[in-house]
Amino acid sequence: MDQKIRDVQHFGEQGGVVPVVDVAATSTFMNPEDMEKAFRGEVAGCYLYSRHSNPTVKMFGEKLAAMEGMEAALGVASGMAAIYATLRQLLPDGGHIVCSRTVYGGTYALLQNMLPKIGIQVTFVDAQNIAKIEAAIQPNTKVLYVETMSNPLLRVADLPKMSALCKKRNIKLVVDNTFTPLIVTPAKWGADVIVYSATKYISGASDLMAGAIVSSQEFINQLIDINHGMVMLTGPVMDAHVAHNLYLRLDHLPVRMKAHSQCAEFLAKRLNEEKIPVIYPGLKSHPDHAALKQLGNPEFGNGGMIAVDCGDSNRAMKLATKLQDEKFGLYAVSLGFSRTLMSCPSVSTSSEIPEAEQVEMGLSRGLLRLSIGYIGDNEIMTDRFLKCYRAF
Ligand code: PLP
Repeated sequence: MDQKIRDVQHFGEQGGVVPVVDVAATSTFMNPEDMEKAFRGEVAGCYLYSRHSNPTVKMFGEKLAAMEGMEAALGVASGMAAIYATLRQLLPDGGHIVCSRTVYGGTYALLQNMLPKIGIQVTFVDAQNIAKIEAAIQPNTKVLYVETMSNPLLRVADLPKMSALCKKRNIKLVVDNTFTPLIVTPAKWGADVIVYSATKYISGASDLMAGAIVSSQEFINQLIDINHGMVMLTGPVMDAHVAHNLYLRLDHLPVRMKAHSQCAEFLAKRLNEEKIPVIYPGLKSHPDHAALKQLGNPEFGNGGMIAVDCGDSNRAMKLATKLQDEKFGLYAVSLGFSRTLMSCPSVSTSSEIPEAEQVEMGLSRGLLRLSIGYIGDNEIMTDRFLKCYRAF
């Protein structure tokens, strides 16, 4: 995977080792007839207006697509923009989606509260159970939507089985790989479209909002189609400066992912030894340990996310406050930052999911989710965690 990223190379205009940022909102045509042809879709690969395509955004897409082993990718304004544009493009006239019930709260709210109002029905299922997924499929089902590693329970989707089912029933498999870039390559296991919140690991610095859609060239072309493209016509495009930043950051994503995984694994193992209720797919006790071994690219480890069950949300927040005071981490939503971020999903990023359903899916009110950073010494950080945990 590192090699695939490495082999994408663009030069700056004067031979610089990095490409320039192309900020132009619009592009010149030397021949007016060519503009007409471009609007008729008769000239492939030409730039006309940056809501349609931009050279810097395109370069970011090329590098990301190479990393994923897919034909093409499109940077967009946020992860939610990636999800919404993808689903609307796949269901332009309505229809039905089968969605895992353990997805990011914002995704859940979009699918539960907004899409049904525009003629898209959604059935949420326990995606760990393939028979339940199959039973939820209806004649008008067009998409199966899952997260590779679910937020926040860190369950791993059985992508090979899901993809086989989707192929059999002529359904598109859309996979949110936000938690596991490089750790899992969904295209290897049959995903049709991969979506990212690039705000997270791909950015790595918690300083910008971005999203990406990775798929076939045909699907990316559909998204920017002048007459029917969801990104072209609703406009959630990626800014060229953001694309340039992310283009450069993809080069160190492999190093960062390995470091996140290594630090999370170190802490999770120690907490497990101390009999602290910790959820981490790298632990043998995790229900999807074997699944991740099967799907994962081992050189990138088991991911940077862990969760600790503190019993109830007050206790989770009390522990988080202590951890923040001790400079273990920051109490903030989001993930993929160089420093540890902590949040209590039941009252934050999963609060959109009704409490009864949270219980049914096994989401404890007291779960503290931690996106483990890689800055600092593992021993010192673990000691800080244990000191706070024992004191609270
Ligand atoms: N998908 C997952 C798994 C997420 O955790 C998030 C945000 O937290 C999103 C999508 C949405 O991404 P963004 O905040 O970039 O719109």
